[in-house]
Amino acid sequence: MTSSRHVLDLPSDHPFSLHHLPYGAVSAGPDATPRLAVRVGDHALDLAAFAADTPWAGPLAAPVLNPFLELGPSAWAGLREHLSRALTDPERRAEVEEHLRPLAGMTTHLPLEVRDYVDFYASEQHATNVGRIFRPEGEPLTPNWKHLPIGYHGRSSTIVVSGTDIPRPVGQRKAPSDPQPTFGPSTKLDIEAELGFVVGGSTPLGSSVGIDEAADHLFGVALFNDWSARDLQAWEYVPLGPFLGKSFASSVAAWITPMAALETARVELPPQDPRPLPYLTGSGAGLFGLDITMEVSLNGTVVSRPPYRQMYWSPAQMLAHLTVNGARLSSGDLFASGTVSGTQREQRGSFLELSWNGTEPFTLPDGSEHTFLQDGDTVTITATAPGPHGSTLGLAEVTGTIRPTR
Ligand code: CA
Repeated sequence: MTSSRHVLDLPSDHPFSLHHLPYGAVSAGPDATPRLAVRVGDHALDLAAFAADTPWAGPLAAPVLNPFLELGPSAWAGLREHLSRALTDPERRAEVEEHLRPLAGMTTHLPLEVRDYVDFYASEQHATNVGRIFRPEGEPLTPNWKHLPIGYHGRSSTIVVSGTDIPRPVGQRKAPSDPQPTFGPSTKLDIEAELGFVVGGSTPLGSSVGIDEAADHLFGVALFNDWSARDLQAWEYVPLGPFLGKSFASSVAAWITPMAALETARVELPPQDPRPLPYLTGSGAGLFGLDITMEVSLNGTVVSRPPYRQMYWSPAQMLAHLTVNGARLSSGDLFASGTVSGTQREQRGSFLELSWNGTEPFTLPDGSEHTFLQDGDTVTITATAPGPHGSTLGLAEVTGTIRPTR
């Protein structure tokens, strides 16, 4: 039954049950002004209208979450409590349903003006695989890897919402056996299955966010695909790191899962040996992982299930590290975890690793063989996590289709 009086009767294993309540921005069409919303099942609750008489009405009337993010954790908790009470109160159903719209036919937008964007490299298994592929003669992990969460600053303006087509990038590349560099469309276009963290609460230049305060700035998570042109990357990255092989596009899910919905998904980190410096450990409260199981699909077929719980560095450690030099935070900053790869082959979060740089094609059930992405390929990343009260949350997907070079 789908009549409106059943909209709120969601099973607790529905990916967007009342335990989840992720934030997004929707409009009636691609050209209409986005309005902030909370996802309830397959409906969007209009936040500007529903929260019109709350203390957060002004910020929630914006087309992006940035003003609300600036309010900080007590406002985030307050709104979530407000929504949760209203949505579970049988006597308020009529009031709630007045502001619910079916998502079918609506356009979802990036619910964030992404300020600074940082991408980390927090999976030991991913870093090990990449080291073995690109530096087979040396130690797979660089000497700094277990002492600090390695990252780089990326290009926030090319972060796009899930569903946006990805034109194949062009650039310069040179394989070791090539006598000279060549130029053209990337022939090694890849994905990186990651988790993005949305930051709220700005801080002044010259200050740092200690690891024990980091959680106060972690608003939520969204699945993230860091599209990567491996041929461009391999030629350009020495000595300053990723550049044009990464900055052409990164995709982020349309719905941001609040960290508060993931309290029950917190797990211990894998052992950190050697013990990191004190600014990366603090009281220990910031040393948590997340039991999020991701699923990467190529053209509708699952090719990998990367386990986020195996990530070496915690999100609080990443945030503490990226501000320890005095770099300030802005509401709307986004940092991504780096490719999530588990210890098993079928847990690898990139085609670079799944195909071992193209040398070991993987075969789908239909018999097709794959290494890197072809034009027309669609990659979709989904994920689940244990939610409150025995529920299972489904993180909103991030999907994109490769189009020919423009
Ligand atoms: Ca990445």
